[in-house]
Amino acid sequence: MRAYTTAHLPLDLPPGHPFPIYKYQGVAEALKGLVELLPAPPLDREALALAHEEAYLDRVFGEGLSRAESLRLGLPFTPLFLHRALHAAGGTVAAALDALAGGLGLNLAGGTHHAYPDRAEGYSLFNDVAVAVAVLRQKGFQGRVLVVDLDAHQGNGTAVFFQRDPTVYTLSVHAERNYPLKKERSHLDLGLPDGVGDAAYLEALSRALEEAFRFRPELVFYNAGVDVLANDRFGRLALSLEGVLRRDLLVLKKVQEVGAALVVVMGGGYNRDPDLTVAAHTQTYRAAISFR
Ligand SMILES: [Zn+2]
Repeated sequence: MRAYTTAHLPLDLPPGHPFPIYKYQGVAEALKGLVELLPAPPLDREALALAHEEAYLDRVFGEGLSRAESLRLGLPFTPLFLHRALHAAGGTVAAALDALAGGLGLNLAGGTHHAYPDRAEGYSLFNDVAVAVAVLRQKGFQGRVLVVDLDAHQGNGTAVFFQRDPTVYTLSVHAERNYPLKKERSHLDLGLPDGVGDAAYLEALSRALEEAFRFRPELVFYNAGVDVLANDRFGRLALSLEGVLRRDLLVLKKVQEVGAALVVVMGGGYNRDPDLTVAAHTQTYRAAISFR
């Protein structure tokens, strides 16, 4: 089994910035020996243009994002950041190709679900899942795709990409009062109140998965953000580490039931305890591998 990593790529963050750069290395380290770690390959502009708008890519590859756009992104738009984003999204495309070939693909990055066709926001420059689906379509894959987005924030960008696409179903389970303030319409949205813990979360999730999997997907993208954990800086939910594992297992069981291929992308995770963030992401990938 292989997994794509961006852990080797540096990022120039301002001091004290909350972006959890540590976790990419931490998760790769923890999975050593269990997976073959491959550097995520970069995307080129042609692949990005299958999903994103040309005028947006002109800015990204030309003069760069404006100050206002960088503020919305929440990260300084630097050459290092762009370079890293190209590799992170490339990892999801590579993982999607692995999934079609062998049933499972793993990107130890990605899940940048706040990127829209024409703009960046919320740490998301490119919508890696949207680009991956576009690349697969170009390669001739016509199967039904389900996006299971369990990051604590709504997958607003992803929802917009697929709103008018009958071949892709989007499910987002998130904290309703959380960022983004203005939600988009996924095919199925489950907005939870603040502070929801394991039992209520898992019960609500089971029902949502039941409904979403009626779509009978042939390929599932799982955004396994762990900002659902209690004590996350941005998540507003209150799952335990064990609750997150049970969450993952619910998804994996459904994927197995319908016999779909699976791509796991990392998503958010900003716990006040960095070790917990790494442990939660790691257990997701381990669980996915053990289900294979
Ligand atoms: Zn999130």
